[in-house]
Formats: sequence, C-alpha cells, structure tokens
Amino acid sequence: MAIEKVVIIGSGPAGWTAALYTARAQLAPLVLTGKQPGGLLTTTSIVENFPGFPEGVDGYELMTRMQKQAERFGAKTSFGVVESVDFSQRPFNLIVDGEKVLAAAVIIATGAGHKHLGAPGEHELETKGVTYCATCDGALPAFRNQPLVVIGGGDSACEEAQYLTRFGSIVYLVHRRDSLRASKIMAERTLANPKIKPIWDSTVTEVMDVQKDTVTGVKLKNLKTGAESVLPVAGVFIAIGHVPNTDLFKGKINLDENGFVVPQQGAMTNVPGVFVAGDCADHVYRQAITAAGAGCSAAIDCERFLAAENC
Ligand code: NAP
Repeated sequence: MAIEKVVIIGSGPAGWTAALYTARAQLAPLVLTGKQPGGLLTTTSIVENFPGFPEGVDGYELMTRMQKQAERFGAKTSFGVVESVDFSQRPFNLIVDGEKVLAAAVIIATGAGHKHLGAPGEHELETKGVTYCATCDGALPAFRNQPLVVIGGGDSACEEAQYLTRFGSIVYLVHRRDSLRASKIMAERTLANPKIKPIWDSTVTEVMDVQKDTVTGVKLKNLKTGAESVLPVAGVFIAIGHVPNTDLFKGKINLDENGFVVPQQGAMTNVPGVFVAGDCADHVYRQAITAAGAGCSAAIDCERFLAAENC
C-alpha cells in the first residue's frame, strides 16, 4: 500500500497553507478536508482583516482560493473524514471513511469550533445577527450605530465588547455571574468604557426573532431574581469560549486540560512526525492570518523532519 509523505487533517487557513508549502516542497500532501471543507472561516460572511484584500473577501472564497493555490503545486484534496488515528508506530495509520491511509508525517490542522449557547433562535439566526466573531463581523453595516450585545465574561467577551464600541451605539455585556472571569486589566478597561453596559447574573433564554428572520433582541433571565426581560439589539456576539476539534487525538498526543494540542519544538507534537497548526493549538490569537502563519511553520518543520530522515 502506498505511503503518503504528508497527510494534512483539516482545510482551514492552517491546513491549506501547510498544503501550499509542503506541495511546493514536492511532498504531494494529501489534504483531508473533514466535514466542513474550508473550516470555520467559511461560516463568516466577509473577512476584512486578511492582508492583501483591501475590499475584504468572502470567507468561503478565501478558502477556495487557498485550496486552488495549494492544488496548483500538487496538493491532493480528499473530502474524507478521519475516523481514527494510530500514531503508535510509523508509518502512521489513519482510517478515513472506512479506508486505511498510511502517512510518513501528519499535520493536524483541525481548528476549533465556537462554543454555542444552545438558546432557542441562536442557530436559526446565525449570520442574520448572531455571530461568534466581532473581529470578523463587527464592522458590518447592519451593526453600525445599533445596540449590540456580547455574551460571556472572559477575555474574549471583554475584547469583543471593547472592539464593538467602535461600531455599536451601545454594547451590552451579559454575563451569568456578578464579576468577570477576564484578566484584571481587561476587566477594568472593559468596565471603564462608557459605551459598555454590563448586565450581571443573567443568561440569554432566547434570541429573537426567528419569525422575522433577523435579530431584534434577546430574552434575558436574571439568575438571582428570576426576573425576565427583553433587550432590543441588532447583533448578538457570543464569546463563551472555544472548543478545539481534537477529540480524535485524545490519548494519542499531548493535549492540555481544555483539549488544545500542545506543540513542542516549533510545530511538532510530542509524537515525532506529527505536527500541528492553527486554532486546535491556539487559544489566544485565533485569527485566519495567524492560523495561516502556523500552517507555514508546521509545513517547514515537517519538510525538515522528513529531509533529515532521508539523509
Ligand atoms: P473563557 O475564559 O473560558 O471564558 C468563557 C466565558 O464564557 C466565561 O465567563 C464563562 O462564564 C462564560 N460561559 C461559558 N459557557 C457559558 C454558557 N453556556 N452560557 C453563558 N456563559 C458561558 O474563554 P475566552 O474568553 O474565550 O478565553 C479563552 C482563553 O483565551 C483564556 O485563557 C483567555 O485568557 C485567553 N484570551 C486571552 C486574550 C487576551 O489576552 N487578549 C483574549 C481572548 C482570550 P463563567 O465565568 O461563569 O465560567
């Protein structure tokens, strides 16, 4: 059975950039796209912060362009979903849609998913006023000079709320407790911002209005008093954390307590020959451009690793 030199698991900016670099190194990488080809970025409307696109670029289009660029240099794309991995010996053994794939090296670029609230209306109104990324969507015309709400009490929620004060008329910060989890400096800066109004001890019980097919507000419940209210807003920014897509690798490589892959020696994991890039190993930056940069690093590390073996 043929052994792939490099298999890349995931097809977001990290995966495609790793594919581009390993393809140009003549390693003919096999990219396994997973269930969501293009990754999380394809769920955002317009990406305005990826350098080189002064007018912004549709997330789906950006991923398609990256794919084409990698394929032009010999990357192979398979829309397969990896079911299991065996990193205990080399070549590594992956089961992809029931078929065995052998790989001399693997680059993990499986990304992360946004944690969801699970409130009624949240899913139905995603991209219609519900978003999980202020940096991606905050500047959209629909949110300009409108009341907005951020859900969460961590650094992400604070960062998003501060960012959104540039666009919204007022930014509500709804948190389920009476103090922020965010770092002290971030919390102080957030609470000192006159455009941010915290709403404590509250959860969102419903995102409105599915009937109108657009966000008009959120229903809130105060967890201490039980009081219910409606907060009219044009945008709901959910920032309650991320979940790395790493279930597949539990017990196979080192993950931290939140499930993020722990790189060592650059982009290598604790298993020689298995590399990692992007949001599945990054709980801090989480941007398309940083994921792409990490994909480049992983590809270079992988190429050098394979070259050293063949010396
Ligand atoms: P986080 O620190 O885990 O905070 C998540 C927040 O969402 C918490 O306040 C949590 O409430 C709340 N939450 C979780 N599930 C919820 C639910 N189902 N309903 C309502 N609220 C819910 O996540 P994060 O803010 O994304 O930060 C992740 C890591 O990245 C942290 O280590 C953070 O320091 C780091 N980070 C750093 C920066 C920076 O330094 N610039 C920026 C962003 C993130 P509770 O407080 O009640 O648990």
